[in-house]
Formats: sequence, C-alpha cells, structure tokens
Amino acid sequence: MKVKSIFLSSMLYLVLVTGCATNPISGKSQLMLLGEDQDIELGKQYSPEIEKQLGGRIQNTSLQNYLDMVGQRMARVSHKPYFEYTYVALEDDMINAFALPGGPVFITKGMLKKLENEAQLASIFAHETTHVVARHSAAQMSREIGISFALSVASSKASGSAMQVADIASQMIGLSYSRTQEREADIGGLEYMTKAGYDPYEMVKTMQMLEEESQERPLEFFSTHPNPENRIEYIEEEIRMKGYSKPGLKVGADDYKRSVLDELNY
Ligand SMILES: [Zn+2]
Repeated sequence: MKVKSIFLSSMLYLVLVTGCATNPISGKSQLMLLGEDQDIELGKQYSPEIEKQLGGRIQNTSLQNYLDMVGQRMARVSHKPYFEYTYVALEDDMINAFALPGGPVFITKGMLKKLENEAQLASIFAHETTHVVARHSAAQMSREIGISFALSVASSKASGSAMQVADIASQMIGLSYSRTQEREADIGGLEYMTKAGYDPYEMVKTMQMLEEESQERPLEFFSTHPNPENRIEYIEEEIRMKGYSKPGLKVGADDYKRSVLDELNY
C-alpha cells in the first residue's frame, strides 16, 4: 500500500512538472521536463566549469566583444530573445562549437581559425542559437543526465559536489544531437542568419569546410553534431525555396580577418 502511494505521488509529481512545449522551429510539441527558467539556470551553473575544461576563455577582450556582437544579432532575431545568450571563444584547439540550455554558446579557437569571414561565424552561431531556442540541448540533458539532478548537484554544498559538477560538465560537452535536431538547427539557423543580414551561402561553405576537415580526421563538431544526410543539398534547397539570397547581404571577410584572425596572429 505504502509503495503504491509513493508510486502514485511520484506519478502526480511527474504530471505536474512535465509540460508540452512547442518547438518553434519544427512547430511540433515536445515533451519537456521543467521549464525555460531551468534551462537558463542550468546554463549559468555549468558555464564556468565547461570553460575551464576547454582551456578557458581566450584572453582578448576586443575579440570576445566582436564575437558576442555578431552572436547577439542572431539572438535578437530568434524566436526566444529572452534567453540569456552569450557567445564566448575558448582556447581549445579542437574544431567545435556548442550550446548549453538557456543561452551560453561556445566556439573553440580551432574552429575560429578555420572560418574565413563574419557570415561563416554567423552561420555557426545561428545554428547553435537554434539548438538553444528549440531546446535541443535541454531535451538531450533531460534524457541523458536529468536536469533537476544536474541543478541539485550544482547548488549542493556537499563535499564531492565539485567533482560531480566537473563530471556532469564533461558529459554535457559530449552530448550528441539527433540528425533530426541537427537538420532543424541548420534550417532555423539559415532563417536567423539571413534575418540578421548575412549571406546564407556562407553556411554552405562552412559545412563544406567542416566536411573536408573531417576527411582528414574525425571532427569533434560532428561527434556532437552528427552530419545529416544530404546536408549541403537541403541547405541550398532551403535558400532557394525561401528566397534567402538577396543582394547586399554581408560576408565580412575583412572584418573577420581584422577582429579574429589578426588577433589570433593566424
Ligand atoms: Zn548542431
């Protein structure tokens, strides 16, 4: 009897905290544990540890300001401008970029060196911003780690919790999206980058560059962002279908060289 009532009350708890949120990118509803406030809290709690594990922030204020300025353009035109977006470059030499629930977006030095212009940077940020908006990372977190568990560990003052935080942070870095989520991030990202004034064909070039790099060696970006089939084809098709390519959209090779590549002495 006792077991049954515990079971029932935990069922009731689940019903209360489980909501159906609509994913603005796919238009479908998705089952999601907890709310967007928890996404923001989670991103804030785990950002410092994640930065630490990936070599820390690149210590260059003008470079970081430039990246954040470009990223915030995507945030502003997104479906959820109220999330707390930050766009930060980390010292890591791997070729990677990723997003935490609630808004923190990270890009590695390895990735920055491979990009050629501001629109390509925007394409990466637009893709990651879409993962945040569509709550893909929160969904993967719910499934693989547990959001309330991660939050309770972060707020715990118990000894050993620092180690647990480090462990959860490394799991977050390794969380992998599904190919469907990946495709949504491409499609949503195209919309955001063109709304923000960038040439969408630079997303095609970025994906081509990443695919070429992955011929040489397995790429960290593709281990967390699996390469969907016909990626280049559907991105080009989407650009044509939606009429995204217009004269006057920014590529920004000079700005990128001056603000990023020169600063990295690359
Ligand atoms: Zn992705």
